[in-house]
Amino acid sequence: MPAEIRLFNCLSDNFGYLIHDPASKATASIDAPEAGPIIKALQREGWTLTDILVTHHHADHVGGVAELKTKYNCRVVAPHDKSTKYANVDERAKEGDTVRVGNLTARVLETPGHTLDHISYIFDSENAAFVADTLFSVGCGRVFEGTYPMMWQSLLKLRALPDATRIYCGHEYTQSNVKFALGIDGGNAALKARADEVAKLRAANQPTVPTTLGEEKETNIFLRADAPSVAAALGMAGKPTADIFGELRERKNRS
Ligand SMILES: [Zn+2]
Repeated sequence: MPAEIRLFNCLSDNFGYLIHDPASKATASIDAPEAGPIIKALQREGWTLTDILVTHHHADHVGGVAELKTKYNCRVVAPHDKSTKYANVDERAKEGDTVRVGNLTARVLETPGHTLDHISYIFDSENAAFVADTLFSVGCGRVFEGTYPMMWQSLLKLRALPDATRIYCGHEYTQSNVKFALGIDGGNAALKARADEVAKLRAANQPTVPTTLGEEKETNIFLRADAPSVAAALGMAGKPTADIFGELRERKNRS
């Protein structure tokens, strides 16, 4: 039986996610930006929270953990990296670990850069990747704790997933990402088509997520940092890709 996935808004622009296994009735929340909308979503579905899978230590991803843990006595899985402190954690997960949610299995990829502890949860059987603040639709996370080469390697790790993988990211930033990308990669027909689609979705107050990795490979300028046309547009032909990626990220920071 395929998993059921729900997404909803939390805080100002975070996504809340529930993944539910109909066979075992297990339900995981990916991160917990705030408890209220997650509890409401669970009640709407008649589901009980069994697990919280934390991607990284930022407050807008763990702010609801304590309240949910108290209410549901659920298991909390957090990144293995001990450089960051977590309260209420039952298990730690590192590269190559698998985390079970009922009969569902998530594979853990370490995707550092945004933070040093950032991990992503890949449900291969569901073609679903929860990538939080590493990869956004048409964008990527700010590099707060890591380095540009480190973040680029993390993006390459995600880029190697099958094209049909649905990408569930941590924030609704797509419209701003599209605007930035068009300024550099304006000749990209797939990006222009995505810009139209995103404008329509946002005008109707609809989320632009999930996308697919295949679509991101065509439209996401950060995943395209090694495309010759992107290097040329930046006047950086022949430069190392991590440097090109870093230049893109710095321009986005200033945009
Ligand atoms: Zn973050």
